[in-house]
Amino acid sequence: MDHFLYRDGALFAEDVPISEIAAAVGTPFYVYSTATLLRHFKLFDDALEGTDHLVCYAMKAASNQAILKTLAQAGAGMDVVSGGEYLRAKAAGVPGDKIVFSGVGKTADEIRTALTGGIRQFNVESEPEMEVINAVALELGVIAPITVRVNPDVDAKTHAKIATGKSENKFGIPISRASEVYARAASLPGLEVIGIDVHIGSQLTELEPFELAYNKVAELTERLRAEGHNIRRLDLGGGLGIPYNRSNDAPPLPVEYGAMIQKTLGHLGCEIEIEPGRLIAGNAGLMVSKVIYVKSGEDRDFLILDGAMNDLIRPAMYEAHHDIVAVQEPEPGVERQPYDIVGPVCETGDTFAKQRNMPPLAPGDLVAFRSAGAYGAVMSSEYNTRPLIPEVLVNGDQFAVIRERPSFDEIINRDTIPEWL
Ligand SMILES: *Cc1c(COP(=O)(O)O)cnc(C)c1O
Repeated sequence: MDHFLYRDGALFAEDVPISEIAAAVGTPFYVYSTATLLRHFKLFDDALEGTDHLVCYAMKAASNQAILKTLAQAGAGMDVVSGGEYLRAKAAGVPGDKIVFSGVGKTADEIRTALTGGIRQFNVESEPEMEVINAVALELGVIAPITVRVNPDVDAKTHAKIATGKSENKFGIPISRASEVYARAASLPGLEVIGIDVHIGSQLTELEPFELAYNKVAELTERLRAEGHNIRRLDLGGGLGIPYNRSNDAPPLPVEYGAMIQKTLGHLGCEIEIEPGRLIAGNAGLMVSKVIYVKSGEDRDFLILDGAMNDLIRPAMYEAHHDIVAVQEPEPGVERQPYDIVGPVCETGDTFAKQRNMPPLAPGDLVAFRSAGAYGAVMSSEYNTRPLIPEVLVNGDQFAVIRERPSFDEIINRDTIPEWL
């Protein structure tokens, strides 16, 4: 459920008409709903009620500081995957002891930044990384709290580019080697082993792969405890999917996910951390774009938009589906016609949808891409010297630009010309 609904024939974000935002900031743009962000956070928080837990929002999904602050004020921690994300979370006011550091290639500099600013834990992804965290901690005279990310070798049954829990993926250490790796970690004086981490992929639409993985984590917890490790925190990653296609998809709900967590892991008495990103931000954001041309081709018609693959790359990168709706609500029963919906970038990959049935649309009309809040703005680029598009946050009847569209001068002046030219 989200807060982007039609009222009297016009699409709104909470209490603000989308057309009003478009008039104020121009198109294309991203718009997020505060109420939806908070609702999704609360669904997870409530799903783990009764268990000591922290919901750490995976901020790579949508990392604008206004979004981080909205969630942090509601009690969320953050899961970061780079030094830049760590600093951004701090800039948004998130305390270090609510920031978890994930990611396969943390550099010594990034580790130093986090240890200096304060960190809840590092989720360690390899033995060499463990040695570097230990060395940096000793150099700074601190102890680094860690979990080790284990790779449970389960099939997440999701798109290959976002599956992370199979043995062939680059993530974590094989669960079969966990005893050895934990023994080494325990021997390093700069580290304190506090738990286990697992994250098997993104956009999972079934609970079964999670359950398989979490059962393995339960077994491992008991084994490592028997080997003398004080395992007291389990970080279960993110990955719960969202219904991109509202007429077909029905992924499990956070409440079902939470119940499964309690069932598989509740008896261990560990603190539980989860790292949802997509489910918190995905359906809390739209990308709004304008029709530039309606073009008739030989065997199909095209809607050419002012938004493109550089603004929303998910269709080009993951063959992802986004529901695309007209901002002016179509009359009931109006005849729909198939279009290829494309952007202006010089790549055939710049196609958002093929043969999508749409109501009649004309140049100047607005369309909204649903479920664009996660992995949308953050993955955008200035390919074709197209400026990054603005981000807008709505809260009730107010809205604010939370990232401005850069001017062409700002983009062009970022280049520097060597003196020999
Ligand atoms: C990407 C990622 C997440 C978030 O995944 P979602 O599918 O957006 O919920 C959580 N944890 C880690 C380690 C990740 O890499």
